Amino acid sequence: MKIFRLNLLLLLFIFTLPVFSQNVRVTILHVNDVYQFMPVEGGKRGGLARLMTLKKQALQENPNTIFTLGGDTLSPSVETRTYRGAQMIDAWNAVGLDYSVLGNHEFDIKTEELLARIKESKFTWLGANVIDTKTKKIFADLPPYVVRDFGGIKIGIIGLLLPEAKATSSMEDSLQVTDFCATAKKLVKQMRKKEKVSAVIGLTHLFMAQDKRLAQCADFDLILGGHEHTLLQSSSNGTPIFKMTADAREMGKFNLNFNAATKRFESMDWEIIPVTDQIADDKEFEPVFLKYKDLLEQLAVPVGATAETLDALSLSNRTKETNIGNFIADAYRNAANADVALVNGGSIRADLLYSPGILTKRDVLSMLPFNNPIVKIEITGKTLRETLEHGVARSAANEDNEPGRFPQISGMSFKFDTTKPVGSRVSDILIGAQPLDENKTYTLATSDFLVTRSGDGYVMFKTAKVLINADAAAKDSDVFEKAIKDSPNQTIAPKLEGRIVRIK
Ligand SMILES: [Zn+2]
Repeated sequence: MKIFRLNLLLLLFIFTLPVFSQNVRVTILHVNDVYQFMPVEGGKRGGLARLMTLKKQALQENPNTIFTLGGDTLSPSVETRTYRGAQMIDAWNAVGLDYSVLGNHEFDIKTEELLARIKESKFTWLGANVIDTKTKKIFADLPPYVVRDFGGIKIGIIGLLLPEAKATSSMEDSLQVTDFCATAKKLVKQMRKKEKVSAVIGLTHLFMAQDKRLAQCADFDLILGGHEHTLLQSSSNGTPIFKMTADAREMGKFNLNFNAATKRFESMDWEIIPVTDQIADDKEFEPVFLKYKDLLEQLAVPVGATAETLDALSLSNRTKETNIGNFIADAYRNAANADVALVNGGSIRADLLYSPGILTKRDVLSMLPFNNPIVKIEITGKTLRETLEHGVARSAANEDNEPGRFPQISGMSFKFDTTKPVGSRVSDILIGAQPLDENKTYTLATSDFLVTRSGDGYVMFKTAKVLINADAAAKDSDVFEKAIKDSPNQTIAPKLEGRIVRIK
């Protein structure tokens, strides 16, 4: 069998040699939204030590191989609470990443921390439309694009970040995210005319709808994106667009074929490779595991258990009532002794289903990694109605696939209809068992991110009377952990209760 295969390979090689010699093949490996270097789903998927194995295999097949990341890696994660993203830089440096675009979550950490992480990176960060208004230059003096030469074939890569990054992270006021379309128009032309590239790759951290618009703005050959956490394959204006499932559950492998004589980009073959426990860890990743061993062990400590499957999927928490959303909102309300509580769905992370069984410290911190204080404020019934309207203002299918603002709630219930105009979608609001009274005041427990930073666009809390401020407040994950420990037998069993009903 082996001999047969060898002969076949030899034959293939001999017969295809003349064809290959006229072509240059460039391989791009791509992942996006990778928040931890350890595998996820109980070890079944992801894991950067496995990516390192895949990278080395690809390099052996084709020395013209580069590895790209579609942004969102330094935050949020359990490890980032301690190491401020440095653990991911260590991991990516080991894997041999070549390029990453800045994601909105890169700006969750302080600017000076992010600048330090960029310095520590052995790879190049991109983000042509992230502007430092103090210097009028690209943030951190990043290059507007990079051009790589593979045997005379030049490829241009430009990084672009979504404008919403400003509202969905803690980005500093002096930084600005400018129009990605205008930026691309100018720079892609420059790459084509001045640099004479044969192909332009957009390395983006945008919503899919924005990627599609981007493909209309400028002449891209391929857009490799991020931000959305699910496998997406599309095309716009003839440009293929791809995103992988978060946390390296898959790796995209794109073979770009160029004619060496004409330098034209002729075709592309691609493959979506599932990253599973069937792929061995590369031994050279070991030092990263060892460096973070102590923390990894602390995170494995059990805090309780769940009797129900917990729905911590991002898509669920950003589109509908979830059992874990109910449990966390209840925990916030009880901790602050408030009438009602609201959790923005985007703050519930992990993006996993937790099967019945033990819950560890890592599980708690994975679901609530931001370390947000849970404050208590007083608002009128009218403001509470506006709050819920805001919460579902992007919930129609064509508005946002996964709106982070979507509310998980406690102490209240409501219905909503996304076919109605924004601002009049919510109905049947009950506070406890009573209809909402717009003239009454209610106390609300929620994350300080929404109150002092107007996170996810919740601007209506700016003038609210604060009853428990951030300094006096308990942290979200502490509140969550205590609620698990205070449950009978330290076992939780949250259920769906019809708190939120989507009419359409
Ligand atoms: Zn993102």
